[in-house]
Amino acid sequence: DGRVARIASAIRVIPDFPKPGIMFQDITTLLLDTKAFRDTIDLFVERYKDKDISVVAGIEARGFIFGPPIALAIGAKFVPMRKPNKLPGEVISEEYSLEYGTDTMEMHVGAVQAGERALVIDDLIATGGTLCAAIRLLERVGVHVVECACVIELAELKGRDRLGDKPLFVLVNAA
Ligand code: 5GP
Repeated sequence: DGRVARIASAIRVIPDFPKPGIMFQDITTLLLDTKAFRDTIDLFVERYKDKDISVVAGIEARGFIFGPPIALAIGAKFVPMRKPNKLPGEVISEEYSLEYGTDTMEMHVGAVQAGERALVIDDLIATGGTLCAAIRLLERVGVHVVECACVIELAELKGRDRLGDKPLFVLVNAA
């Protein structure tokens, strides 16, 4: 599929951001390439349109870019999974560990119902900790997470293993 090669080449790599030694995968340049951006959304829509998914859960912040157009195209609702103290209503929270310390992810109570089928979307999987927290949060309220999807996988970090038997679909592998 030639679309994937174009998507891969539209992602810019910025060395030493946000700190020395990190090769940051910058998806903002993908958003500037109207064909590559459209192809990105189309590839996800082709995969998920007939999977009976009622919820697309997008992880702050870049899951908010890719999630909504997929949700609209497959006829699912979009649910934001946010950093702490951003959502105004009642929330449920899930703590997860980072390289140094912990972070928290929040979702509005009532946004999803037990028995719903969800796709979790983010721009990139590194260690997998963020996606794991999203899966736990959704499963705690009885939602079935059908699959996780990212534009980019940093395969060397083996985040995929941390997801256990939860399927992960990615478009681009970055070393
Ligand atoms: P993980 O929890 O898998 O270690 O980290 C994934 C999270 O960190 C995602 O929410 C992702 O947006 C962010 N992230 C980590 N490294 C990068 C990067 O190089 N580029 C981008 N765009 N996001 C990153």
